[in-house]
Amino acid sequence: MALLINDKCINCDMCDPECPNQAIYMGDKIYQIDPDKCTECVGHYDTPTCVSVCPIDCIKPDPNHKETLDQLAEKYLRLTEPNG
Ligand code: SF4
Ligand code: SF4
Repeated sequence: MALLINDKCINCDMCDPECPNQAIYMGDKIYQIDPDKCTECVGHYDTPTCVSVCPIDCIKPDPNHKETLDQLAEKYLRLTEPNG
């Protein structure tokens, strides 16, 4: 499932450059994650790298975007397609 940044985010800028899918962007007040691009780092890393670097542990599973491992892998492949 995609991940979600909650409102405890302190905009420290740590996660944004670490995302291999460019899924993290600055929203109105805090950073946000594009669920169409977040693969939970499937295809790149063993664990979500944004969670690893976040100093306050405010990145959580997004209950509105539950996906299986297969679906995440498909999303990864879609994102890496030349025209995708
Ligand atoms: S889990 Fe991975 S793909 Fe998803 S937002 Fe975090 S760094 Fe990006
Ligand atoms: S690493 Fe955590 S606190 Fe820092 S910008 Fe990202 S979500 Fe916010």
